Amino acid sequence: GEKIEVVVLGAGYGGIMTAVNLQKILNLNEASITLVNKYDYHYQTTWLHENAAGNLHHDRTRIPIDEIINTDKVHFIIDEVVSIKPEKKKVKLETGELYYDLLVIGLGFETETFGIPDLKENAFTIGNIDSARLIREHLEYNFAMYHHENRKNPGRLNIVVGGGGFTGVEFLGELANRIPELCEEYDINKSLVRIINVEKETTVLPEVDPQLAEYAMTSLESRGVEFITGASFKHCAPDRIVYEKEGKDKEIATYTTVWAAGVRANSIVQDSGFDHCDGKIAVCADMRAPGHDDVFAVGDCALVVDEKTGHPYSPSAQIAVQQATTVANNIKAHLDGNSTFEKFEPRLLGTVTSLGNNDAIGDVFNNWKLFGWKAVLMKKIIDNRYLFKLGGLGLVMRKGKFNIFY
Ligand code: FAD
Repeated sequence: GEKIEVVVLGAGYGGIMTAVNLQKILNLNEASITLVNKYDYHYQTTWLHENAAGNLHHDRTRIPIDEIINTDKVHFIIDEVVSIKPEKKKVKLETGELYYDLLVIGLGFETETFGIPDLKENAFTIGNIDSARLIREHLEYNFAMYHHENRKNPGRLNIVVGGGGFTGVEFLGELANRIPELCEEYDINKSLVRIINVEKETTVLPEVDPQLAEYAMTSLESRGVEFITGASFKHCAPDRIVYEKEGKDKEIATYTTVWAAGVRANSIVQDSGFDHCDGKIAVCADMRAPGHDDVFAVGDCALVVDEKTGHPYSPSAQIAVQQATTVANNIKAHLDGNSTFEKFEPRLLGTVTSLGNNDAIGDVFNNWKLFGWKAVLMKKIIDNRYLFKLGGLGLVMRKGKFNIFY
């Protein structure tokens, strides 16, 4: 009879790994698999802060999808998903429409601005290759403008990062590396540049062990980063921001505000009428959407609760990749007419947060704390391990990270 149509939306960690797993476990012609993505490349979101600061070229971060996907087994469409119509089993694309029997939603995250005025319009975000490239260019432009305006506008040299979570801290570390280079290139005295972090909590990295968070702050401060904690962002204009601390409004002149304080699931999920929890699908144990036996969600579009703590797992590349295995196995089970589906059980290694090229912190394997080069090494092992899963040794050699002391 007719072949079953499996459609995977998004080629981020969750989506592309679902497709790669399916092409490994399915025989040719067992199903028709279609992968849809906005770009003709997959990118490593977890490296984007390096691209944004200008320390790593984005061609290192992205991989053409046809280098990873076996096009005999997976049909790849470059297009933008507009909406999903679960009741009709259809996906509306910018230039067409797709029918599915089984759907995998891996559309990732978007920025959450918490209703802060003008943030969406005036702040930069680290979300994809395009937005990272824009930040890199913008930093250079402002350093060039500083002299062009006869050094009358110190705001050109102030960089504000909103939020001191993992993304904010990793970006601060990259900035601390990059600024001395930019100063050299644009004839700017380093002491005139301010890198300022504005964080709502009383510490950065509130989710990690306090000892590690303190290490991170000290490391970054020693390289010129200023922390303003216990401060809430109130307003973001093109040339300044306003925050509130201890009941008082304060202003910082800046042309570069990078908002790294919040993400939410792609709003397509919510707008397509799925039951959602803050925009995410609270998936069943087998990664399917409640009430939709033909829809799976992975990565930042899925919400999985840790039974031990009762709290949802934090969105991460790590969990997205693991979920993709369960999703692919369950699609195979469905095609085989199997009624028992695999239950998703994460095996999380912990987190490693980079602080720039020579420093990092890690909390791995149940409370093994790493500092400095050991954490840097661990981060590279994690990154290379992912590339190996995605495209084997060849991809590791092409795009991997090997030098730990540069
Ligand atoms: P994504 O990887 O975001 O992929 C979504 C894909 O969908 C993209 O390819 C996008 O192009 C595509 N897409 C989106 N909308 C559409 C559309 N309308 N139509 C077609 N295609 C579309 N996690 C970790 O585990 N470790 C880390 O060290 C880490 N560091 C991070 C550092 C930074 C700077 C950031 C921003 C995040 C970091 N994370 C880290 C979190 C991690 O990147 C995310 O949790 C992860 O990317 C989620 O994977 P995903 O597959 O759900 O979505």
